[in-house]
Amino acid sequence: MNINLPEAVENIIETLDKAGFEGFIVGGCVRDACLGVEPKDWDITTSAKPEEVKALFKRTIDTGIEHGTVTVMIERQGYEVTTYRIDGKYKDGRHPEEVVFTPSLEEDLKRRDFTINAMAYNESAGLVDLYGGMDDLKAKRIRCVGDAAQRFREDALRILRALRFSAQLGFDISEETKSAILEIKENLKLISKERIREELNKLLLSDEPEKISLVHDFALAGIIYENGGKPVIFPSECGDKMLSALKASAKIKELRWSIYLNSLSGEEANVFMRALKFDNKTTATVKKLCAFSDVKIDCEEISVKHMIQKVGLSEFDLLIALQNLLGFCDDTTAGALMDIKEKIVKRGDALFLKDLKINGSDLLECGIKKGENIGKMLELLLEKVVEDYSLNDREKLFKIVDELKEDL
Ligand code: ATP
Ligand code: MG
Repeated sequence: MNINLPEAVENIIETLDKAGFEGFIVGGCVRDACLGVEPKDWDITTSAKPEEVKALFKRTIDTGIEHGTVTVMIERQGYEVTTYRIDGKYKDGRHPEEVVFTPSLEEDLKRRDFTINAMAYNESAGLVDLYGGMDDLKAKRIRCVGDAAQRFREDALRILRALRFSAQLGFDISEETKSAILEIKENLKLISKERIREELNKLLLSDEPEKISLVHDFALAGIIYENGGKPVIFPSECGDKMLSALKASAKIKELRWSIYLNSLSGEEANVFMRALKFDNKTTATVKKLCAFSDVKIDCEEISVKHMIQKVGLSEFDLLIALQNLLGFCDDTTAGALMDIKEKIVKRGDALFLKDLKINGSDLLECGIKKGENIGKMLELLLEKVVEDYSLNDREKLFKIVDELKEDL
């Protein structure tokens, strides 16, 4: 077994070695390299204590020094170097009580979640695979290191990590690990929504997003989709239509979440996304996509414009993709709607108040009273301009203002 290490990683390990310490690449990068996939980042595990690591390298950042992690900077690139550690007792099912450093690589590998994530490598020792990680990689199997139920009891997030890796790698979950999920799943109540969200998000953005159905197969949905003990509405099942739409969809976060949540109303999707502590922008987009996922858009400029006004310009593309994937509009219609949108955009038609050639101060000068009237007038003008783009001209708009003034 030979892994090609980037020069910087080789140097870090060599520096540790020369100072009398051990250094190995570990975890995700070993797994990915064994699979022939270019690792996203290279994590290093070492017998050196954080202070010792810091003394050996010119530029370091204390990223998570209390957990033993120091980031070593080599030419603008950061490499996480973490001291071998044993996670102390987990009292609350999410955090170890204390982190204990250890001189033993074996101990460090033992605390890791799955066998495929518990391998280490360096050039002199080769692959260190104490828990059958390579066999599991070959068998395409997710299996806990040690007793699965105990590992999930320590940190229930690992349950969702099992599902996530299964989707990312296209692996099955071993039988023992599956039984342990069913046994320990209630502990997911202890896990923060942010951590849950991140795992589900990675799952949905993977090559096999349809594996989101595992959340329902293991009956985890009722446990993780809640807000401070209060249930929130979630998809009651993953039907074929949803799963094939997920499979066929581009890897866009808002698109995949709205496919998953398409049976929910806009408001229900909003509550769901908030419960998982999504940011406002993602939440707002998914809410809109769900609200309009089954609203027919006529192949006419005015209907397209009205929908763009409701959902936004870039969201419109996602909405068409969503409707198309769900079979709500066919390929021809989707193509035609996108062509119409392109035409509108190319022409530079006004769609929003900011696009109007006159603004609030212009109206004040025309003698329109401050406050509500200005807003009302601008809306009226936009309506006219959306119907007939040639009207978006200062002179013409001032004329319309004169005509409409009386009605306000
Ligand atoms: P990714 O490609 O998503 O980064 P990864 O395997 O690197 O995958 P990370 O979450 O970055 O995953 O974690 C790095 C390593 O730390 C894992 O490979 C695993 O060995 C260990 N690890 C991470 N989270 C846990 C956990 N909750 N319990 C046990 N070990 C964990
Ligand atoms: Mg990683």
